Amino acid sequence: MDMIESSAEVDFRKGLRKFLSEELPQDLRHASTFAGRLEADRVLSRGGYLGYTWPEQFGGQGGSPAISAILDEERALAGIPSAKSPSRFGVNLLGPTLMTHGTPEQLDEFLPPIPRAETIWCQGFSEPDSGSDLASVRASLSDRGDHYVVNGNKTWTTLANHADWCYALVRSQPDAPRHRNLAFVLFDMRQPGVDVRPMVQTTGASEFNEMFLTDVRVEKRHVVGAVDEGWRVALTVLNTERSYGQLSRFRQYEAELRRLSALIARSDPAKPEWRARLVSLSAHITGIRNISYKITSTAEAGEDLGALASVAKLLWSTTHQSLADLGYEVAMETGEDAEYWLNLELETRAESIYAGTSEIQRNIVAERLLGLPR
Ligand SMILES: Cc1cc2nc3c(=O)[nH]c(=O)nc-3n(C[C@H](O)[C@H](O)[C@H](O)COP(=O)(O)OP(=O)(O)OC[C@H]3O[C@@H](n4cnc5c(N)ncnc54)[C@H](O)[C@@H]3O)c2cc1C
Repeated sequence: MDMIESSAEVDFRKGLRKFLSEELPQDLRHASTFAGRLEADRVLSRGGYLGYTWPEQFGGQGGSPAISAILDEERALAGIPSAKSPSRFGVNLLGPTLMTHGTPEQLDEFLPPIPRAETIWCQGFSEPDSGSDLASVRASLSDRGDHYVVNGNKTWTTLANHADWCYALVRSQPDAPRHRNLAFVLFDMRQPGVDVRPMVQTTGASEFNEMFLTDVRVEKRHVVGAVDEGWRVALTVLNTERSYGQLSRFRQYEAELRRLSALIARSDPAKPEWRARLVSLSAHITGIRNISYKITSTAEAGEDLGALASVAKLLWSTTHQSLADLGYEVAMETGEDAEYWLNLELETRAESIYAGTSEIQRNIVAERLLGLPR
């Protein structure tokens, strides 16, 4: 992606901005409830902007990675970042994964409602004893003749309390070799046997859940890929999860940095140490923008991202935590804007954990980028 946008990209940005300024009600910007965020998705959908970069036959416009980056950026500027969208698991993760691994019947059944924000998906990967080592999941798939059933526990399942459907990684063979014993399955969340229990976070919100699965029915046609080859399908999801939405993050952090600069400017006396940290944060946030462009241009060239997605994940999560740390410190000392910065301080703790922990990203960078021994 060139830093200078093509005329088509400039036109796209203008059209999107106009649409959002005319159609997105003020109360949906920065909405903190599920209902508000879902309504914002539906507004985007009415304009054709949800799943915009999907191929036309699946309800998108086939936009390029550069268009996708612009969309992300404008959504963040409008206060409806893709990272908070209830449709994000469907639009960004399951949809593209099905396009790679799904059967024509799965594409027909599951893709059309996603860009209409009619079906909300959640991701049932993690379990109480399987997070970073995801291939060790124990929830099991059993054959019951004309269908399968899943039994086991999942945890940290974001949006499970609102989702209509779940894509999950489960054990298909108790004794087969590692990575050849897993199935990637789709199941209806609104069936007996799916017991969802919301977990209360330090912020007081309940965005993720425990799931207890008892004889949960999976239709045979709802296994994605070969039944013991689910690991390959899950890898597609994981690689996408680390790399999408970078420009949206850049815009969000830029706005937060401005808020913090204003707070520090108002403080008396403004500590030189705060100013120095502010400058360092500004440099890191510029780095996030640059790596976003690099990811976009690599994707546009159809090249493998390699360890780049891990570098980006490390950079945005650690930078955002440092930004929140400074904001919280300044707010506590000055007594200003305290609720906002306390909330951000608590919220950002999770960012070095989800989508692959920092330690795991460092392992990937060490092995694949630096060529260090295991
Ligand atoms: C906000 C949030 C939302 C989430 N949403 C979802 C969701 O929707 N669906 C879902 O399936 N999961 C979700 N997760 C779970 C997330 O994917 C896991 O928390 C993550 O993969 C880490 O797994 P774990 O918590 O089991 O930690 P563990 O894997 O047990 O790790 C514990 C610690 O050991 C370190 N560690 C582990 N292995 C290694 C190693 N090989 N080398 C060095 N250090 C290592 C880790 O970095 C970590 O510090 C979410 C998590 C959070 C925080």
